Amino acid sequence: MITPLEGYGLPLGSKKRPISGERFMLLGDAAYLIDPFTGEGIGNAIYCGVYAADQAAAALQSADFSAANLAAYDERVYRALWPELQLSHRLQKLVKYPRLFNMLMKAATRNKQLQELVSCMFYEMDIRKKLAQPSFYFKLLLNR
Ligand SMILES: Cc1cc2nc3c(=O)[nH]c(=O)nc-3n(C[C@H](O)[C@H](O)[C@H](O)COP(=O)(O)OP(=O)(O)OC[C@H]3O[C@@H](n4cnc5c(N)ncnc54)[C@H](O)[C@@H]3O)c2cc1C
Repeated sequence: MITPLEGYGLPLGSKKRPISGERFMLLGDAAYLIDPFTGEGIGNAIYCGVYAADQAAAALQSADFSAANLAAYDERVYRALWPELQLSHRLQKLVKYPRLFNMLMKAATRNKQLQELVSCMFYEMDIRKKLAQPSFYFKLLLNR
């Protein structure tokens, strides 16, 4: 080995950060927009690419590249992505309780319906919402 090992965490969208300023906009991973629960960042990077292109076109038209003008980009990105990022962050915090997740996974090995539910949470927002509610785990404990 000729260099030390280095590792970096994924830039997770766990909190709102300023993602533009004087003459710049940050996109995708540079803007910390990876979903904190699924680890997916490609979709969000594409969304903000579209929004940044619109904002850049407007800035060029008005010849205004100020931080105040580009702040509309932050607003649009967070209006579209924040609800999902916030929910995923709540679920990410639940993983800190291994007993809870082990219980969920054990129950899923025995129950086909629950297996499908857990798989769907990666793309179904409503199911992800359900998993973030304590009542879901109570019902699971009571085997309902
Ligand atoms: C192991 C792993 C697995 C992942 N799996 C998934 C997944 O299954 N689904 C999903 O949605 N997301 C996944 N992600 C996250 C996803 O890869 C990123 O969120 C996404 O690629 C971000 O896109 P981006 O354009 O912001 O950045 P990037 O894709 O990193 O693109 C940035 C580009 O800029 C180039 N670059 C850097 N510095 C310079 C420079 N100075 N000059 C010129 N070019 C430069 C880099 O070479 C790179 O090509 C995964 C990430 C990792 C690390």
